[in-house]
Amino acid sequence: MADDAVKDIFVIGGGINGCGIARDAAGRGYSVVLAEMKDFASGTSSASTKLIHGGLRYLEHYEFRLVREALMEREVLWAMAPHVIWPMRFVLPFHKGGIRPAWLIRLGLFLYDHIGGRKLLPATRTLDMRRDPSGKPLKNLFDKAFEYSDGWVDDARLVVLNARDAADRGADIRVGTRVVSARRENAHWDVETENMASGERDVVKARMLVNASGPWVDKVLAGAFGQNDVHNVRLVQGSHIVVRRKFSDPRAYFFQNPDGRIIFAIPYQDDFTLIGTTDRDYVGDPHEARISDEEIDYLCRSASEYFVEPVTRDDIVWTYSGVRPLFDDGASKAQEATRDYVLKVDGNSQKAPLLNVFGGKLTTYRRLAESALEKIGEAIGEKGRKWTAGSRLPGGDFGTGEFDKEVARLAQLYPFVTSAHARRLIRLYGTRATRLLGGAKTIEDLGRHFGSDLYEIEVRWLMAEEWARHADDVLWRRTKRGLHLTAAEAEALEDYMTKALQPPN
Ligand SMILES: Cc1cc2nc3c(=O)[nH]c(=O)nc-3n(C[C@H](O)[C@H](O)[C@H](O)COP(=O)(O)OP(=O)(O)OC[C@H]3O[C@@H](n4cnc5c(N)ncnc54)[C@H](O)[C@@H]3O)c2cc1C
Repeated sequence: MADDAVKDIFVIGGGINGCGIARDAAGRGYSVVLAEMKDFASGTSSASTKLIHGGLRYLEHYEFRLVREALMEREVLWAMAPHVIWPMRFVLPFHKGGIRPAWLIRLGLFLYDHIGGRKLLPATRTLDMRRDPSGKPLKNLFDKAFEYSDGWVDDARLVVLNARDAADRGADIRVGTRVVSARRENAHWDVETENMASGERDVVKARMLVNASGPWVDKVLAGAFGQNDVHNVRLVQGSHIVVRRKFSDPRAYFFQNPDGRIIFAIPYQDDFTLIGTTDRDYVGDPHEARISDEEIDYLCRSASEYFVEPVTRDDIVWTYSGVRPLFDDGASKAQEATRDYVLKVDGNSQKAPLLNVFGGKLTTYRRLAESALEKIGEAIGEKGRKWTAGSRLPGGDFGTGEFDKEVARLAQLYPFVTSAHARRLIRLYGTRATRLLGGAKTIEDLGRHFGSDLYEIEVRWLMAEEWARHADDVLWRRTKRGLHLTAAEAEALEDYMTKALQPPN
């Protein structure tokens, strides 16, 4: 069914960049349509290391612009979403004769502390690893370490909260909808979409198109736009392993491998440790990226170099792999390719404009969206002003120091919910957790129990408010309950959701 009204902007891709741009644009008063072919964050945006970070390592490649912008964003994003983003301290152990001299690390961390507008995050300090508790789970290799600040983010939730907010501000958000073709019709685009479940096709008219399809960006240019010979991004796979908890310290570790790479070991979902990542060039469909045996061995072997208790294949409970869409700057090694983003507009006043997004980090998505809106304003006329700094994402309307207070408030309102459950709900939904639980008075009021602390009331909320359609959407992106449910429980959830989505006879 074709809608003849010409929209201002059509966004291709429901990763962090597409959803961030859609939110910013809708908030400025543009009419916006966003199409995501699978699920929000089903591409790279749920497969990251989940750091809101300046990128200490990028300083080695002189990426000062990117690092400064990313550092500045840490506290802006934390204030915007204090439920899904929080500060984390990182322990960077070093020893004499290591691959980077102490003075170089010290210089990097000095810049880290001083060029990024840090107000709330604590500064770097030096640790004596023979005394500090962070030295305990490690082999006796290090005398000293630096401890510095960065942030942690639930990446997939950051994406869906941007989509939710965009929709609340009037954007038309379509999941399971693939862009098949885009044709210029004088001053506007005819964008043809396909509903991936029903096969139904639709045409949307839009004045401007934004191609924010991440690692698919070149594929979309070739397929939907019929462009030949496009090579704008370099696809670089990165994989992670999740293992049973290796240490109880709340701080994360930053290890420097002898091959010049770095790996993180991060406390994850209370009971686990997240270890990653790798860098290797990738060909193929990014949705099909899977960790290889070689990567598993590399991560287990590297982590075992540092921890007293070795990390083995038997410890692994989950793995995931993502593909970085790095702007192709001709760097020879995957790990040296720029992490900065590049925005390019194709079109002019006679020709409907197309904005292509290449690269970009989760950390800088809000600034990337602002830059995109600047280009959109130049191309189709300005609307509104910058507004997202100082704004709140859904459920994030509480202070950065008030997380525990929010948990206590929820536990008091719903005394039948365990404290771990209340904590999880505030982490995921912030102040909207009370809307999710509504008038529930007893645990039975939460409805069917799907395993762990996942109940029908939450699944219903995710389907109604956050576009969840499949068990995987709930278990691996909206929540991480997938780590706690059995295969049979996951199947029962899929069954329930399929039935719930069927129209009544
Ligand atoms: C291993 C790894 C670790 C990382 N760690 C960090 C980190 O710690 N911190 C950080 O800031 N950044 C990190 N990043 C970078 C960050 O995750 C990515 O840069 C970011 O998620 C890219 O988002 P995106 O929206 O551009 O792409 P994506 O998230 O991939 O979104 C693109 C979307 O477009 C959709 N799509 C494609 N084609 C079509 C079509 N024809 N029609 C409709 N939809 C379509 C896809 O389904 C997909 O959902 C990491 C990346 C990787 C791979």
